[in-house]
Amino acid sequence: MIRIAIDGPGGAGKSTIAKAVARELGIDYIDTGAMYRAVGYKMKKEGISADDEKSVGEMLERTEIDFSGGDTLLDGNIVNEEIRTPEIASAASACAVLPAVRSKLVDLQRRMAQTKSVIMDGRDIGTNVLTDAEFKFYMTASAEERAKRRFDELTAKGKNVRYEDVLNDIEERDRNDMNRELNPLRKAEDAVELDTTSMSISEVTDRIISEIRRGL
Ligand code: C5P
Repeated sequence: MIRIAIDGPGGAGKSTIAKAVARELGIDYIDTGAMYRAVGYKMKKEGISADDEKSVGEMLERTEIDFSGGDTLLDGNIVNEEIRTPEIASAASACAVLPAVRSKLVDLQRRMAQTKSVIMDGRDIGTNVLTDAEFKFYMTASAEERAKRRFDELTAKGKNVRYEDVLNDIEERDRNDMNRELNPLRKAEDAVELDTTSMSISEVTDRIISEIRRGL
């Protein structure tokens, strides 16, 4: 069994790369960001504020998050599209500071990785969720490059966004994720750091696969 952890800031390309590596190695991909997004989405839908910890806790007790064949399921419903908006990215980042949210999701993530080989991406996988993962990577890219990638992705989907707004969102989320008290985003000491600013998707994927094959 192997466990691969990929951490890094939003827009660094973690999920694209993790999916490609999972396909190549024939193992499961677990997108932990989608889990925080699903919680943020449900809070927004129910009008629950991140300041109201009691209501958040009560909501979590009746919340089920799962993955099935590449789909993200929230209480049994597919929410792939709904959670991919800039508003839900901010809602995810806001709910990710709450101890009740983190403890529920981290528990779930550890259970998902208990019985099978996985590649898991997020912010705290190498430093907290799977501290004993066999392989750890920390992917970065400049904020401008990450904003450009996100902007291209959103406009390709027909979304009407401004580059400056996307860059602001990315920078604000970096600040939230790096400065929060509980499990902030940082590189694990034993993680391999990859700056992907001027690397293509296939270059990054090949580099990660070769590190893994070398270490097996
Ligand atoms: O990776 P993605 O952009 O989908 O993550 C959305 C948000 O969820 C992040 O900005 C972060 O605040 C939170 N998150 C987290 N820990 C993880 C994964 C995501 O706090 N392991």
